[in-house]
Amino acid sequence: MSINSGLQKMDEQSENKDPDLDVEQRRQEITSNLTDVRKRIEAMTQEKREVRLVAVSKQKPISDILIAYEDGQRHFGENYVQELVEKSKALPSDIKWHFIGTLQSNKCKILAAIPNLWAVETIDGIQKADVMNKACASREFPLRVFLQVNTSGEETKGGVDPGECLAALNHIQDNCEKLQLAGIMTIGAHRESTEELNPDFINLMNLQKQFKESRGMELEVSMGMSDDFEEAIKLGSTNVRVGTTIFGRRPLKHKH
Ligand SMILES: *Cc1c(COP(=O)(O)O)cnc(C)c1O
Repeated sequence: MSINSGLQKMDEQSENKDPDLDVEQRRQEITSNLTDVRKRIEAMTQEKREVRLVAVSKQKPISDILIAYEDGQRHFGENYVQELVEKSKALPSDIKWHFIGTLQSNKCKILAAIPNLWAVETIDGIQKADVMNKACASREFPLRVFLQVNTSGEETKGGVDPGECLAALNHIQDNCEKLQLAGIMTIGAHRESTEELNPDFINLMNLQKQFKESRGMELEVSMGMSDDFEEAIKLGSTNVRVGTTIFGRRPLKHKH
C-alpha cells in the first residue's frame, strides 16, 4: 500500500478546505514528535543498551501510522482487537504489531491469526496464557508474550498480582509451547509528582530480577508511557509504549 492511498483517506475524512496543507502539517507534527521522543530515549540510554519504542496508535487513523512508518517506525501498539485487525490488513506487512489492550479469551484466536502480530503484552494470568497458547496452535512460530503485572493494585488496571507473577511466568515457560515468554509489562499508577522513583516500576524490576535468579533467564521489561518513559528507562525498561507524545491526544471515549 502506498502512503498516498492512506493520506487520501484522511483527505476524504477531513472537512478542511485545503487538505494538502493539512496533510503536510500532520506529517511535520508526527515526524518532529517522533524525532523528539527518539532523542529523549537516546539521552536516557546513552548507548548502554537498546530500548524499543512502541508507537501507540490506538484511535488514530491509518494515515498517521503511515507517516510514522515512512519515518522508519516499525513497532506499533494497539488496544482494540477489531481496530488492530483492520489496520493490519490495510498497512504494510513488515509492521510489528503489539497488542497492549485488555485481552479477552474470545478474542485470542482472532489475534493469533494476524500474521505480523509481533507480541501480546497483556497476558494477565495462567488461564489467559493457556487460552492464548491454544489459539496459537496453527501459528508457525511461537508468539512473543509479556505477562502483565498489576503493580499498582488498582482495580481499573489489569494483570496478575505481583505475588502471583513468578508462578505465572514459570507456567508460561514450562507449559505453553506456542508462546515465547518475552517479558513482563506494567502500567503503574499515574503520579502527579515524580520526586521519588516510581515504586511500581521498581516492583516490576524486582520481579524481573527474581525470575532471572531462579531461572537464569533475562526477561524484557515493558514499562513507561508518554508521561513517564524516561523514568522507566532510567529504572531499566527495555520497551516503552508511547502514544500521546507522538500522535497527540485521543478522543476521551472509544466507541466499539
Ligand atoms: C494507551 C496506552 C499507552 C500509551 O499511552 P500514552 O499516555 O498515550 O503514551 C501505553 N500503554 C498502554 C497499555 C496503553 O493502553
